[in-house]
Amino acid sequence: MELLQQHQIPPSPVCYAVAYEYVAQRTPTLNQALDQHLEKHGSLNPHLLREFFETHFEGGTELQLDDHIASLHDTLYKVLEGVSSACHGISDFGRLLEGQMESLQGQTDLGSVRRIADTLLQATNQAISNNQKIQDNLASAERNTTELRNQVEQLREEAHRDSLTGLYNKKVLNQRLSQCIESSIESQTTLSVLMLDIDHFKHFNDSFGHLIGDEVIRRVAQTLQQRARKNDIAARYGGEEFTLVLPNTSLEDAIKVAEMIRSTVGKLVLVRKSTKEKLPGITISVGVASLHPEDSIETLLERADQALYYAKNHGRNCTISESLLITETDSNNQKIAY
Ligand code: GH3
Ligand code: MG
Ligand code: MG
Repeated sequence: MELLQQHQIPPSPVCYAVAYEYVAQRTPTLNQALDQHLEKHGSLNPHLLREFFETHFEGGTELQLDDHIASLHDTLYKVLEGVSSACHGISDFGRLLEGQMESLQGQTDLGSVRRIADTLLQATNQAISNNQKIQDNLASAERNTTELRNQVEQLREEAHRDSLTGLYNKKVLNQRLSQCIESSIESQTTLSVLMLDIDHFKHFNDSFGHLIGDEVIRRVAQTLQQRARKNDIAARYGGEEFTLVLPNTSLEDAIKVAEMIRSTVGKLVLVRKSTKEKLPGITISVGVASLHPEDSIETLLERADQALYYAKNHGRNCTISESLLITETDSNNQKIAY
């Protein structure tokens, strides 16, 4: 709470969870990232903590899954108990049958035969009732298992998505982009990446509030998703920054896609729901890079980011491709662009 108060952050569940984890020092990567940020910027904000939550926490998903596993465990335990007591019951039933068959041999007394028949009937009903219990337990186990499977599927999907926009999160972006790079190199096909960032968003947030800011982020994400083809990967890279991975796309075609998205975002009409007040339009800047044979994820994204930086420094609301960057070889023979 002290940490949150110090940075004037409201103690929402997500912010509290991150602060708690940081103070408890249980996730070294989180502590490292947060310390680095504090060292560089000196302050924290709720968006940043949400980003840390999405990057460093899988706890939410694990906790929810734990509940389902515990409930399935209970049901399976009941089934096991049922099966084991039924096995005992059946072997008791077998012994009883054997005993009664022996007693029946050479029996002529009607009264005794009737008693034996009564005992058999009782034991048979008991066995049927035991079996019914197992069947009920098995049916319940089947229901729980099906529910667990659906829940796991849903949680898996949720863990891949950014909660505000529904786009892929940074973690999935890294995994998918790595696969795309591999297969592009293998099949010698093109691959391009767009880095998109909303212009002057801090000012927009400060003027209209974070809730409207969130809505703007959602609208830009929607535009990106609508423009993405089936195999493209649209992700929220962080805050108000997005990435679009375009397999089988040359630099020239990627620039066209970037321009289409940029002009669609520029035409978005934003209206404040409560007052119907029309809000000023927003614009984005885009950096574009294409895969080089020696690229890693980092170098490819770095060039797209450099191009975006260039776009920001050249008036914003424009698309800049890596072809405008100056590339040099550094002292370690690594290519660097600026
Ligand atoms: P530039 O044109 O150079 O990109 O300027 P900018 O103001 O857009 O960039 P800056 O990085 O200074 O500010 C980004 C702002 O985005 C600051 C942060 O509070 C806000 N932000 C980040 N994530 C969220 C979010 O999830 N919701 C809202 N409403 N704002 C966010
Ligand atoms: Mg911005
Ligand atoms: Mg930004």
